Amino acid sequence: MSLQIFYICTGAWKENAYIIIKNKESILIDPGDNFSELDTYFKTFNTNYKAIINTHGHFDHVGAVEEFRRKYSIPFYIHSKDKRLVHQANLFRKLTGVSGTNPTPTIDFFLDNLISIELSDTNIKIHHVPGHSEGSVVFEVENNLIIGDLFFNDSIGRNDLPGGNLKKLMESISYVLDNFKNFMIYPGHGTPFLLNEAKIDRLKNICNEYNN
Ligand SMILES: [Zn+2]
Ligand SMILES: [Zn+2]
Repeated sequence: MSLQIFYICTGAWKENAYIIIKNKESILIDPGDNFSELDTYFKTFNTNYKAIINTHGHFDHVGAVEEFRRKYSIPFYIHSKDKRLVHQANLFRKLTGVSGTNPTPTIDFFLDNLISIELSDTNIKIHHVPGHSEGSVVFEVENNLIIGDLFFNDSIGRNDLPGGNLKKLMESISYVLDNFKNFMIYPGHGTPFLLNEAKIDRLKNICNEYNN
């Protein structure tokens, strides 16, 4: 069966969690901040969950990680440079004024030690794209790219959050725009879109405004 990608937007920050399914095996990406809402949806899929992998460690992307990790007994993968963000997620969450805390995720494996992750008979390739956070990555699978908060449909990621760096963000965006033309893009917030020529031009113009 062909690869399927589903997304659901949850939580105060309207974060997109993704599930990638191939031959009844699945991987969860960026499970967001609302475990019960997401799990109600995800348990309707009759698949074998293999792992949770994250594009980065901001609180709106990692809040539900530990509850999924425990419930499905699956490992959590993230880049080592976002370790501190993961461990301090509740602190950053509190600074936004939202009440409550989430269990702090246990990191099982670092993505920087890997080139790809297997999902059934396909590979999810990992590319390090620092700038939005130090340990930000994008995941490439077939003609799809899950990019976290690197850029969105009509804007680019912030560089003023913990771990942000404008110069690195610009380099990382250029790398993706130059290498993934006509890929389907799945961002951390907002709707997925095709990275066609018009979209590449538009995003390059936005970057130029930042550089000037
Ligand atoms: Zn973020
Ligand atoms: Zn985000």
